[in-house]
Parts: sequence; structure tokens; C-alpha cells
Amino acid sequence: MRCDVLTAFPEMFPGVLGASILKRAQASGRLRIAVHDLRDYTHDKRRTLDDRPYGGGPGMVMRVEPIAEAVEALRAGCRSARHRSCQTILLTPAGERLTSSLAKELAGVGHLVLICGHYEGVDERVRELLVDRSLSIGDYVLTGGELPAMVLIDCMARFVPGVLGHREATVEESFSAGWLEYPQYTRPTTFREKRVPDVLLSGDHERIARWRKLQAAARTLATRPDLATNGRRREGGQRRG
Ligand code: SAM
Repeated sequence: MRCDVLTAFPEMFPGVLGASILKRAQASGRLRIAVHDLRDYTHDKRRTLDDRPYGGGPGMVMRVEPIAEAVEALRAGCRSARHRSCQTILLTPAGERLTSSLAKELAGVGHLVLICGHYEGVDERVRELLVDRSLSIGDYVLTGGELPAMVLIDCMARFVPGVLGHREATVEESFSAGWLEYPQYTRPTTFREKRVPDVLLSGDHERIARWRKLQAAARTLATRPDLATNGRRREGGQRRG
């Protein structure tokens, strides 16, 4: 999949994109990420990206023209019938909440253009005219859309075929079946008098699977009862199906 990121702060990206699984995914060609400096799409001497908000109020608002020019240049090749394989996404706290299942869906879109806001946000006409989807990574406000764009890329990359090895697969993880993940342990068996639960050392795979399911349910009920309802509904569906 291909991701073009539009930002006023391209220097924020290389560390995250240049390490570990994301680095490997790009080296193998499964992920193509290009970070673009929005100032390259300005035409004034000072390369201005923001201006004061109409109606007054604190802070500055990102101008629509450089963003429009950048989005249109990057999407020029995918206008026609393949439109659905190219989407433009605005990162904003006012967007639809990012979930694992949404990241999985987006990982199937061939080409994404991600717009990172900054300052007080972006001119509303960006959303009205240029964007297919607005996404929030959670109910809090960050200083810019750069971290949300990296979160989205990381989360989607895990669903791109071949990016994760089978040892890192997404199938038994938190949210994949509606539950949080069960507790995990590795060596040593005992650390500061805390011992790994005996069942995990038993070699009895059925018992281990049962224990993990119970732990996942207990943990989900304790910390995310909202998810527990969905998980139970899904399990009921599976049993009936
Ligand atoms: N005034 C905006 C509001 O109240 O919704 C917040 C602007 S925020 C300081 C600047 C930029 O950070 C936003 O335009 C957006 O791109 C990004 N941002 C901040 N929090 C975010 C979140 N939870 N999810 C996605 N993007 C976020």
C-alpha cells in the first residue's frame, strides 16, 4: 500500500518510519510511505501555511490552498474508475474514531493521502472539498496530526499482507475478537516471587486456551466493559453460525 503524508513538520517522521517493522515493510516494498512538506505547495516568500481565523478566536488556522494543491497533485493519477482505491484522510479530533477494524479496512485501500493539521486546525473547506474521511485517534487533543498519522500508518501496516511474520500475527490480539488480550509471560518462571501461572507451564493446550479465554474476558470486563458486550455478542454469533 502507498501512503502520502502532508505535513508542516516532515522532520517528525523519520525516527518512527525508519525503525523496526515499518522500516522492514518499506524495504520489502509492501509499504510505500512518502512524507511531503506542505510548505512546498505555498507560493509566497515566507511559505505561509496558516492565517488568522475568520470571526476571531485564539490561534491560527491552516490555509486551504496549499493543502488543495498538494492533495490534487498526489491524487492526479487516481481519479477515474479506481477512485475507491485512493482515499484522502484528515486527522482531526472531530473525526470518526480509529479502531482496529477500520485500520484493517483502510489497509485494503491501495493509496492513502493523510493530512496532518496543526495549530488550531485546518480550514473547514479541506474537509468539505478534499477529504473522503476524517479520523480521530482518541478523545484527546494533540498539538498536531503528525503523531495520529504515524499511529494510523503503524496500525494499518500490521494488516498489510506479509508485513507481520506469522510470529507477530494479529489474530489473537486485543480487539481482534472483541476482547482485550490475555496476560503474557516469558522467562524467568519466577521473578521477585511472582510465578508464571502453573497452567501455562502444563503443556496442556486445551487448558491453556480455556485459561486465556477466561483471563481475556475478566480483564475486558474489568477495564473495558463496553468491549465485553461486543465480544459476547460476537461469540454468540459464532456459536450460532
Ligand atoms: N482546535 C481543534 C479542535 O478543538 O478539535 C484541535 C486542533 S489540534 C491542536 C491540531 C491538529 O492536531 C488537528 O488539526 C489534528 O490534525 C491534530 N489532532 C489533534 N488531536 C487529534 C486526535 N485526537 N486525532 C487526530 N488528530 C488530532
